[in-house]
Amino acid sequence: MRLSQLFTKTSKTAPADEVAKNAQLLIRAGFVYKVMAGVYAYTPLGLRVLENIKQIVREEMNAVGGQELIMTNLQRRDTWDITTRWDDDVVDVWFKTKLKDDTELGLAWSHEEAIMEMMQQFVESYKDLPTSVYQFQTKLRNELRAKSGIMRGREFVMKDMYSLHASAEDLDQYYAKVTEAYKRVYDRLGIGEDTFVTFASGGAFTKFSHEFQTVCEAGEDILYIHREKNIAVNEEVLDEATKELGIAKEELERVKSAEVGNIFNFGTDKSEQMNIKFTGSDGKEHPIYLASYGIGITRVMGVIVEKFADEKGIIWPENVAPAKVYLVRIGGDAATQHADELYEELASKGVDVLYDDRDERPGTKFADAELMGIPHRVTVSDRLLESNSYEYTPRMSGSTEVLTRDQLLATLS
Ligand code: ATP
Ligand code: MG
Repeated sequence: MRLSQLFTKTSKTAPADEVAKNAQLLIRAGFVYKVMAGVYAYTPLGLRVLENIKQIVREEMNAVGGQELIMTNLQRRDTWDITTRWDDDVVDVWFKTKLKDDTELGLAWSHEEAIMEMMQQFVESYKDLPTSVYQFQTKLRNELRAKSGIMRGREFVMKDMYSLHASAEDLDQYYAKVTEAYKRVYDRLGIGEDTFVTFASGGAFTKFSHEFQTVCEAGEDILYIHREKNIAVNEEVLDEATKELGIAKEELERVKSAEVGNIFNFGTDKSEQMNIKFTGSDGKEHPIYLASYGIGITRVMGVIVEKFADEKGIIWPENVAPAKVYLVRIGGDAATQHADELYEELASKGVDVLYDDRDERPGTKFADAELMGIPHRVTVSDRLLESNSYEYTPRMSGSTEVLTRDQLLATLS
């Protein structure tokens, strides 16, 4: 991608009302556009990051047999009435609307009931089970507070998966498998070391949920962790949990954290409420076992920005970066021709390059490269060409080396 053709521009300041570091940096770097509090558009660079995150999640969900689909944002009221969750006193984040004939509709804040309503049309017998479906979908929630940038949106992207089973044992096995898949997801996203599965109090097998919490100063949750023992406890269950785990509170470190994922085992609760059944091998009807598995895709993007940014700007882990290389061109015709060729060559090798071919001062280009957080910066200049060399600067270390062409290509491939 040539920067001269990209419609977004970097800026030195963020909107005055934006208090979250993730949104400030993403807006300044031209990755998101703030429409209103909690509502952000994703511009081409931001969309690339989102798609990279989604692709990692998609690969891991496919690997555990998830089938991708996409539900709708307009939802029927009757679907939610069955479980009482249409009621604003039960669910306080609904946006609702009406058809011209006054039929009430909900704007999807979640898809649990909607998915189950659909799946019951397809799942008839035990032979149709287990099955697992997932989507990447925009959720709309009338959140009270939206001060955390893209970490808490009123419109945000979630991956939600739902698995349906004939027995509790089958569900438990799959639940454990998805838990492992989630760990791989966070590892690949570069936040694995700081992401903990929270302790579920009670430890009962029939009904439980787990949160995936990432240590993050900008997070809204409080976690008590023990890194060596890999223990993480939510503040709400601290007393109970320390008792059950036989660990003293003082041994745990208190940190701020962000919930980047959440998995639930509903058992048969929801299918009993919704009267969703399958015919077993015994010829009798049984309620389906259900679990759901969420990942906050846009929240994860915000957490990554918060965790890795420095005073110069964003630092993207390579797996999610919108491009691998930021190519800076400095100087006249010779440098231009050479940089053009290098850009083409890297592209032909499948290396994603953001090519700063603008007529800007070197300092401006370097500052933008740092703000945008592209992992590898390469500079081509008239002066460097005289010695057939390139400047190479990893965003993470910020220290510049002079490399030959072979060294450069070896580093970037
Ligand atoms: P929270 O406690 O943060 O409000 P939640 O319990 O409402 O989260 P779920 O409904 O389980 O969350 O959604 C699954 C995942 O979606 C969460 O783990 C989180 O990562 C993400 N998520 C939830 N609400 C938002 C939001 N308003 N903006 C961005 N991501 C969100
Ligand atoms: Mg919530």
